[in-house]
Amino acid sequence: MLVEDDPNIASLVDMYLRQEGYRVYQAVDGETGLDRIKQHRPKLVILDIGLSGELDGIEMCRQLRAASDIPIIMLTARDSEIDRILGLELGADDYMTKPFSPRELVARIRAVLRRTDGAARATQPPILNIREIEVDIARREVRLGGDPVSLTTREFDLLQYLAENLGLALSRRQLLDGVWGYDWVGDERTVDVHVLQLRKKLGDALKLTTVRGVGYRLD
Ligand code: CA
Repeated sequence: MLVEDDPNIASLVDMYLRQEGYRVYQAVDGETGLDRIKQHRPKLVILDIGLSGELDGIEMCRQLRAASDIPIIMLTARDSEIDRILGLELGADDYMTKPFSPRELVARIRAVLRRTDGAARATQPPILNIREIEVDIARREVRLGGDPVSLTTREFDLLQYLAENLGLALSRRQLLDGVWGYDWVGDERTVDVHVLQLRKKLGDALKLTTVRGVGYRLD
């Protein structure tokens, strides 16, 4: 989850992270950031200190820390701000001063995730249960009523993405961005083809609704 109000930095970081295979959610202010974090449950938050709006990065970090141990990397405009953050003992996992190289940010993200992965695994169930369907994210396995179902990589990614966004109507474009990646070029009907396969393989247990003029919603 990237919370950054500078569109240039946001799009640069977004591009790099996606190239590295990360799924990126964005917000330009703290309030939206907190909402999206609740909604998407990201593995890590990149948080700009100087955000416009009611909630600046420092306050947002404080609120996040009060509620969870989600890894946080803070972005600051000045070295002097780092002293301030450290002094406030906000509990962020790492800090970067702008301008930074996106490559360096990716390295920090990897390091933070390596450090925190064990702890996160203990608190987050790696299995999503949707009716009789079990999506075992850690093992990349799907079971229907306890029996394994064979899905292709894309079918699994699509099911996981839908499951992580349970109850939300997602456009074909959103699904393409989230599952195939932002630089995917091609026909939106690709989504329909994969949805058809998921419906075929998972049957009635999959309450996947076609939202007319939009895309799909998993209930
Ligand atoms: Ca800013």
